Amino acid sequence: MRKKIAAGNWKMNLTAAEAWSLAGGVLEAFEGNTKENAQVIFAPSYPYLSKVVELAASNDRVFVAGQNLHQEESGAYTGEISAAMLTSIGVTHVIIGHSERRQYFGETNAILAAKINRALAHGLVPIYCIGETLEERESGKTMEVNSTQLSEGAFHLDAENFSKLIIAYEPVWAIGTGKTASPAQAQEVHATIRSLISGKYGDGVADQISLLYGGSVKAANAAELFSQEDIDGGLVGGASMNAAEFAGIIAAL
Ligand code: PEP
Repeated sequence: MRKKIAAGNWKMNLTAAEAWSLAGGVLEAFEGNTKENAQVIFAPSYPYLSKVVELAASNDRVFVAGQNLHQEESGAYTGEISAAMLTSIGVTHVIIGHSERRQYFGETNAILAAKINRALAHGLVPIYCIGETLEERESGKTMEVNSTQLSEGAFHLDAENFSKLIIAYEPVWAIGTGKTASPAQAQEVHATIRSLISGKYGDGVADQISLLYGGSVKAANAAELFSQEDIDGGLVGGASMNAAEFAGIIAAL
């Protein structure tokens, strides 16, 4: 059975006190959840990772992700963070290729492929993000863009390593805009992604990989999105920073 995942990307937000209170509130709400294949992932800013790892230790279905990592092992890269640093404090996952990293920090598919390799070499689970811009969607390039990002960023992996990934489809036009892809629009792209994976690695790999949708997911629309056949949960920004709202999203898994 595929894992159903609610991942909260806190981005560059929250004070320390707000972060502890948010994590605590979500953990409390998730405590009574009995869905065995449901998982929660927190992706706080770097200064908060250690403490959130400590808090999350109370539930073995809660994990902590870095929001990024550097592709090199270590060295003179001021301000960057390495895979070994993340694992050394108990972080298990890492977001790679978020559209904000692609857009504002010039991260190309080639750089992201190297980041995925580095993460996997350290046993981190990459949450690899792909997604088209509004312009690309309106010019009919949705499938082409997602296919290219998927293949250039991750199809160099062998089946064993590819199976370790979580893929997040995040249409750029839906991130932080309040505009959500309709369940049918999201399902259409998810089904295409799963069939591309099947074409490359076979049905066995495609059937077990979790595909998350991201883009203005909230408690009110999560159930309909997550009920789609190929949508296995969400990567959530804004709504993940309100404990009650995120708990509502988790309940929809
Ligand atoms: C995100 O940043 O990955 C995201 C999906 O943000 P939001 O939920 O705010 O659209």
